[in-house]
Amino acid sequence: MINKNLEIRSLKSVWHPCSQMKQHETFPLVPIARGQGVWLYDFNGRRYLDAVSSWWVNLFGHTNPRINHAIQDQLVKLEHVMLAGFTHEPVVKLSERLSKLAPGNLGHCFYSGDGASAIEAALKMSFHYWYNNDQPEKNNFVSLQNGYHGETLGALSVTDVALFRDIYAPLLRHSARVPTPDWRYAEQGESPSSYALRAANCLEKYLAENHTKTAAFVVEPLVQGAAGMGMYHPDYLKYASEICNKYQVHLIADEIAVGFGRTGTMFACEQANITPDFLCLAKGLSGGYLPLSVVMTTDSIYQSFYHDEATRGFLHSHTHAGNALACCAALATLDIFEQDKITKANHAKINYLNDISQLIASHPKVKNFRNCGMIWAFEVETIDPSFSGKFFQTSLNQGLLLRPLGNTVYFMPPYIINDQEMDFLVAGILQVLDSY
Ligand SMILES: *Cc1c(COP(=O)(O)O)cnc(C)c1O
Repeated sequence: MINKNLEIRSLKSVWHPCSQMKQHETFPLVPIARGQGVWLYDFNGRRYLDAVSSWWVNLFGHTNPRINHAIQDQLVKLEHVMLAGFTHEPVVKLSERLSKLAPGNLGHCFYSGDGASAIEAALKMSFHYWYNNDQPEKNNFVSLQNGYHGETLGALSVTDVALFRDIYAPLLRHSARVPTPDWRYAEQGESPSSYALRAANCLEKYLAENHTKTAAFVVEPLVQGAAGMGMYHPDYLKYASEICNKYQVHLIADEIAVGFGRTGTMFACEQANITPDFLCLAKGLSGGYLPLSVVMTTDSIYQSFYHDEATRGFLHSHTHAGNALACCAALATLDIFEQDKITKANHAKINYLNDISQLIASHPKVKNFRNCGMIWAFEVETIDPSFSGKFFQTSLNQGLLLRPLGNTVYFMPPYIINDQEMDFLVAGILQVLDSY
């Protein structure tokens, strides 16, 4: 009863994100009463395994006792204070710890709320750096085919996912695209690494011609999430970093989805042994609890803004930047990484899930089964345009939250998932696949 009631009231009063609201005539909303661990519970006591970590944010389960405790502790001290002219312990500690964890010397942390806001800040900072260095004509950006960097206008202008972009194209500033290293696009017989080299050559060719007017290259390291979990060889990042250095173009690494252990290392950039000029983090940063994002950058970029003139500074702000509760959730998240040696512990889970997923990989309807760290994906052979919605619905009936991107099914569960829950996940996916 409560389920139905909430659903009706929500449809009347809440405009849900990324939704054609009319489709809820066929696909009902799912009211959630509470969450615990990998599970979300509705009001009828039904539960769903959150196999997509609630849009890729949740790392250590819902209502994690340790993160809850940290937030409760902070709640009685300070919930929020503006970060212009003021500071507080959680934001200082978090910045110090992130700088230690991140590759290279990314010692300066600039905070916002959502991922897209971090991308906006990084784009503006990159341009402003060149402006401060008497190269104002370096004001264009280049990004990857099928790349996704968020949906505010600046972030959308470097995004290449038609579904999100096409309608709004007249509102966007032009920016350039270079071919993706996603190995699904490789020629038959071409290895992911040689395809990565071929894609990198296209970036080099573009920058050789356009570097004087290009501020930055924006990239999702290792996995292009919204493109349908397109995965590529780490060599691409190595080449891209060298090419960007050679042509004096910033490298903006968008690790909003892949940061914090998703690809098997704390940050995806580590696998290519590169340090970007800007590292953007969000989603898992707060353990998925609260909106928090950060742009981390180098001292040389920071110094170009440091000046007697106010307008050389980075006069950009979001009201809730560096919120104290969100920073506390992030600190508790980093504690769990450290205390439980998560990146190491995840290796066993990755192996186990890969083992039991062999039946999915070899399923006759499945193509391109792939894995990178704690992300798994595959394509389902179908011509049904409503495949995604139907798969979502059938999965719910199996007690699974799965939300395919087109005909790409993926799962990236919270890291606290146990063997039994992994068995349940794989068995459920096989059931859903067999029902087509
Ligand atoms: C989710 C995402 C964003 C946008 O983050 P929001 O918090 O949704 O604004 C940007 N880049 C990547 C790679 C993402 O996955």
